Amino acid sequence: MVPSSFNRVSVDLSALKHNYLHLRQKSSGIDFLAMVKADAYGHGMIRCSRSLEEGGCDKFGVAELREAVLLRQGGIVGQIFSMIGFEPADADAFLEYDIIPVVYDKQSLHNLSKCGVKRDRDVGVHIKVDTGMCRLGVSLDETEEIIEEIKKLPHLYLAGIASHFPSADDRASSSTTDCIAKFVQFQEKAGSNKSVVCHIANSGGTLYFPQSHYGMVRCGISLYGYYPDGRGKEERGDLKPVMSFTTRVLQVKEIEAGTGVSYGSTFIAKRRTRIAVLPVGYEDGFSRHLSNCGEVLIRGRRAPVRGRVCMNLCMVDVTDIGGVEPGDQAVIIGKQGEESITADEIAAKVGTISYEILCMIGNTNEREFV
Ligand SMILES: *Cc1c(COP(=O)(O)O)cnc(C)c1O
Repeated sequence: MVPSSFNRVSVDLSALKHNYLHLRQKSSGIDFLAMVKADAYGHGMIRCSRSLEEGGCDKFGVAELREAVLLRQGGIVGQIFSMIGFEPADADAFLEYDIIPVVYDKQSLHNLSKCGVKRDRDVGVHIKVDTGMCRLGVSLDETEEIIEEIKKLPHLYLAGIASHFPSADDRASSSTTDCIAKFVQFQEKAGSNKSVVCHIANSGGTLYFPQSHYGMVRCGISLYGYYPDGRGKEERGDLKPVMSFTTRVLQVKEIEAGTGVSYGSTFIAKRRTRIAVLPVGYEDGFSRHLSNCGEVLIRGRRAPVRGRVCMNLCMVDVTDIGGVEPGDQAVIIGKQGEESITADEIAAKVGTISYEILCMIGNTNEREFV
C-alpha cells in the first residue's frame, strides 16, 4: 500500500450542490452548463460532475476534447461541450463520444462534416464569436461566411452561438454591456432562431448581468463557492466554498532571538519564538510568494509564515498559540474554530485570483470527497 500524504484537499460535495441550486435559482427557465475544466478548478472533474449530475445538472463544459472524452468515460451522460478546439485527427471523437464542438474556424467545420458523413450522423456545432475578449472566436465580418459554410457542408447544423465576457466580474463594467450589444448583432448576422442556443454569461454574467443570460449560462468559479470579483468574506453572499486544504504539524521548535528561519534567513526572530514546521510547500500549491506573508490556522488561531516557503515545507510562528504539538491540524484553506481562510485571501497576497489558487492546490494534492 502506498502511504498517504500529510496534506489533504477536502471537497465538500454538499456545498457544491448548494451552490448549484443557488445559481439555478438565478438562471431559472434556461439551460445551465457547469464549467468543469482544469479538473473542476482543482476540485476533481469526474466526482464533481457526477455529483452535479445527481443534483440535476445536465450540461458540462471543458477546455480540450481530451478532457471531454475523459469526462464521458467517467460516466457522465449529460451534454459535454469542448470549448477550445481540437486537432483535425481527433474530430471523430466528437461523434464517438457524443461531445458538442465549439468552433471558430472553417477547417474544423470541414473536419466535423467529414466525420458526420462517414457515420451518417448530424453534428450540431456551436460557433464561438468574439464580442470583445479578443480570445477565440470569429469577428462580425466573418460570421456570414461561417454560417454559409455550416449550411453548405453535409451533416452539420448550427446548434448554438457562444461568446465570452472579459470583465463581467466588474458589476459596473460598460465593457459587459457593450459585449451584450455586440452579441445581439452576431445573433442577427448569424440568422439565429429559437432552435439556436445563445450563451455568453460566465459566473459574473450570471450573478451581475441578468440581461446576459440568453438561452444558457456557463458557471465555473461560483459553483466552487467563490465570487468572480474576489469579494471578501464580510460581504460574501450565499455561495459556500467547496474546497478546504489541511495538513499536520511535523515538528515544533523554540528558537532564540536573532535566529534566522528558512533559506536566506529572510526572517530573523526578534524574540524567543516557537516555530511549527509544516509539510506544505510550493510544490503543493502553497506559493513561494507566501514567504513571510501567508497565514495558516492552528488551534483556531492564525499562525504567520516565517521565512521563505520551501518546495515541500514551510515554517509558521506559533509563539502566541498555546500548546501546539506535532500532529496538530493546520488549515491552509478552510475553517477552524471561529477563523477561516479563503482562496481569495491567499490570492490577494500572491497577486492572483481565487481561480489560480484553487487549481494550484487542488490539482497537486490528494483529494477526499465528503
Ligand atoms: C472558464 C470559462 C467560463 C466560466 O467562467 P467563471 O468565471 O469561472 O464562471 C465560462 N465560459 C468559458 C468559455 C470559460 O472559459
